[in-house]
Amino acid sequence: MVAKTLYRALGVCENCKAKAPFARKRDNSPYLKVHHIKMLSAGGLDCIENTVALCPNCL
Ligand SMILES: [Zn+2]
Repeated sequence: MVAKTLYRALGVCENCKAKAPFARKRDNSPYLKVHHIKMLSAGGLDCIENTVALCPNCL
């Protein structure tokens, strides 16, 4: 689900709408972290509706 969430975000943080501040060295993709809105340990689902792509400032 991580890849789909990052694809949806298009390199923009889904919280503050800022562009990812830098790219990953590995594949040059925008550096955003996928965060589960409801933690998996709390019963959250690993689905695209339960994830947001966040920049390092919003983590
Ligand atoms: Zn952000």
